[in-house]
Amino acid sequence: MVNDIEQALDDAAQAQQHGADLVEFRVDTLFSGSGEPSEIDACLLLSKRSALPCIVTCRSAEEGGHYDGPDDARIALYEALGTSDHPPAYIDLEFSTWQRSANLRQKVLLGVAHKGQQKPGVTTRLILSHHNLEGRPADLIRTLAQMRQVEAAAILKIAYTARSIRDNLELFEILRDRDRPTIALGMGEPGLMSRVLAPKFGAFLTFASLRDNSTTAPGQPTIRDLLDRYRFRSITPSTNILGVVGWPVSHSLSPLLHNAGFEDVGFDGVYLPLPVAPSYEGCKASLTSLLDDPNLDLAGASITIPHKQHALRLAEELAWEIDDLASRASAANTIVRNTDSIEVHNTDIEGITSPLVSMLGDLSGARVLILGAGGAARAAAFAMLEHDAIVHATNRSQDNLDTLCAHLNTIAPVPWDQRHTTNAQIIINTTTVGMSTGPAPDESPIDLHACSNLPDNAVVFDTVYAPRDTPLLRQARTIGLRTVGGIEMFIEQAARQFSLWTEHDAPRQHWRELLEEHS
Ligand code: NAP
Repeated sequence: MVNDIEQALDDAAQAQQHGADLVEFRVDTLFSGSGEPSEIDACLLLSKRSALPCIVTCRSAEEGGHYDGPDDARIALYEALGTSDHPPAYIDLEFSTWQRSANLRQKVLLGVAHKGQQKPGVTTRLILSHHNLEGRPADLIRTLAQMRQVEAAAILKIAYTARSIRDNLELFEILRDRDRPTIALGMGEPGLMSRVLAPKFGAFLTFASLRDNSTTAPGQPTIRDLLDRYRFRSITPSTNILGVVGWPVSHSLSPLLHNAGFEDVGFDGVYLPLPVAPSYEGCKASLTSLLDDPNLDLAGASITIPHKQHALRLAEELAWEIDDLASRASAANTIVRNTDSIEVHNTDIEGITSPLVSMLGDLSGARVLILGAGGAARAAAFAMLEHDAIVHATNRSQDNLDTLCAHLNTIAPVPWDQRHTTNAQIIINTTTVGMSTGPAPDESPIDLHACSNLPDNAVVFDTVYAPRDTPLLRQARTIGLRTVGGIEMFIEQAARQFSLWTEHDAPRQHWRELLEEHS
């Protein structure tokens, strides 16, 4: 967004240093169409002094931009740019404007390269674009067919707000059917996939912002995330797609770990956040669409809140292979797609036992209190029972606690309001209390000061990993109890997923360093 010429030129130079190939100057905040010649001069200067080849776009207010001046003035700007001594590589014009009149089209053609161009040396190419901020346009197919009839359009661009991750599949279809260089992007968080996977499906370009706060459309990644986290330059048509299915997932650290791991072991894959709204139907529709798409190469997924039980139910319904631990714990956190089959696993269980066994050795006979009754609680309870511990569980909602205890009938329920009477040697928090994106980030699910029966050598394990240090862990340390953080579980469960997908050991040490840096 150009507010200040020098700043915009400096940003273009920085974008080049960060690895961009092209820069788009959005001049609709600068150019008002008032007829003031200095406005045109300012845009000419941008094109002349840009460190990178550029697109100049004066986006109309109708399609999400700021320009609400007369069309004539905007087209005169494009003509001045296209016929200048330092023309931009591209200008971007909305198809809706193009359609408005033959007179306007004629004027646009004066400033861009096309077959009938009379003026020698005009090199600026026309990007003909269509945006819809509400969602998928009802007349998308017809609009695209009409846009394809515009011969002078060197590049076609379609961008609309993605309502679900399934919208990306149609955008990929548009790219595969292209008759010329094409850009097809989903705006908003569910559309991230279309932005990152542009090279897999042969898109002409993707957009990234220089800074978090300088995006020109919702859902744009930063150039650092695109190039470093998602390894954009290594994505090819054969790249495997993986991701974390959950709600919310935008803050998940799984993409950071798995993508770095893929780089370390040379696995051709990219791992993305896959936001799926919290219902079984949503989970089923999204997962089956992604898995059934013959061109996506979805190789696997992590499943997180609130879909772990949904994933198991789906596996039962569709007769996928269910790993013994996932089946007995009634929750799955991993999908693995093989050539002829789909498997679900639960790696949370080993993620829980492995740090406790490392700290305490034998867990048999240990008294354990589990806080919570969701997917992680099932995994924790199941894991502890596998090691012959004596398991009690407590949960805010009695119904969910009863369901957990009915499922694993050797667990004893403790009413939520009596949890402070516990004499457990191991307390495991599996509620979302204390989680930065959860319901009560500054709270603890139990007040350890009020637990007068706790042994001095008790261990407090908080499965929450964001933040690394939760209110519960801090309180445990202040009264001298040993602690295990959710990071340990997070690394272990992710490491097992990583091995299932890549057949390589996970780079645990590298992951620890990354988590130190990012949390
Ligand atoms: P889930 O199935 O949605 O269960 C959430 C649990 O939190 C339920 O027992 C729920 O109680 C309880 N809860 C929510 N808000 C509460 C509140 N205000 N007060 C008391 N209890 C509350 O989620 P999940 O998959 O089990 O995950 C739960 C936690 O485990 C998350 O914090 C997640 O980060 C962590 N986890 C960590 C790892 C790791 O690798 N470290 C892996 C998996 C999960 P109700 O039944 O009353 O709603």
